[in-house]
Amino acid sequence: MAGTNRVDELRLGLEATRERIDHACQQAGRSSNDVTVVVVTKTYPVSDVEILQELGVTDVGENKDQEAGPKREQMTHQGLRWHAVGQVQSNKAKTVTQWADVVHSVDRVSLVKAFDRVVVPTPIQALVQVSLDGDPDRGGCMIADLAVVAEALAGSSTLSLAGVMAVAPLGVEPSRAFGDLWNISQRLQGAFPQATWISAGMTQDFEAAIAAGATHVRIGSAILGNRA
Ligand SMILES: *Cc1c(COP(=O)(O)O)cnc(C)c1O
Repeated sequence: MAGTNRVDELRLGLEATRERIDHACQQAGRSSNDVTVVVVTKTYPVSDVEILQELGVTDVGENKDQEAGPKREQMTHQGLRWHAVGQVQSNKAKTVTQWADVVHSVDRVSLVKAFDRVVVPTPIQALVQVSLDGDPDRGGCMIADLAVVAEALAGSSTLSLAGVMAVAPLGVEPSRAFGDLWNISQRLQGAFPQATWISAGMTQDFEAAIAAGATHVRIGSAILGNRA
């Protein structure tokens, strides 16, 4: 069980992170209200997620279907919005719909088709993950394929196109990578005005992402500590 110390640890982690976010927003001339913090709780126990909820967190992120489903089920209180932030295998589409309210990592038409075989009460918000350096190993579609994936999402009844997501490539200045993502998002919004979300930035680089217009930052270790 989590003791008082864990409550204090998480409170301090959240406070420090919110201060950094407020500062980054101020520097960028943006309102903190325009940036949603998705607290990435992967590898941490349900007890941590419950503490975070009590501390006012509204959005949590998980990257593994087999971990996230049981965690959500074990929650004492519902009400959190759960984000799938990791790569999704097509054969997991059905189980992902059972716990995720948002999927950040839709990167191929075949995955949209797999989701379309699942009937859901309300469409799940979905982001097209873009590979900013063209390295397929880290997930994300090629920039050249963005339009066709977005088109598939726009026609989906299970998923609803909400925007774009990226991870800063290794060895690239994050501000440059996130600037590229902002341009990609602007172009996409020309065709799909509803695609306003930009999910970018993690513990190491979220200030650069906020400066470049991120609407959702995905932060784990700055709040929960370094994962084992
Ligand atoms: C783990 C993870 C994060 C959070 O990473 P931290 O460095 O712990 O903030 C963000 N996005 C994705 C896709 C992740 O897998």
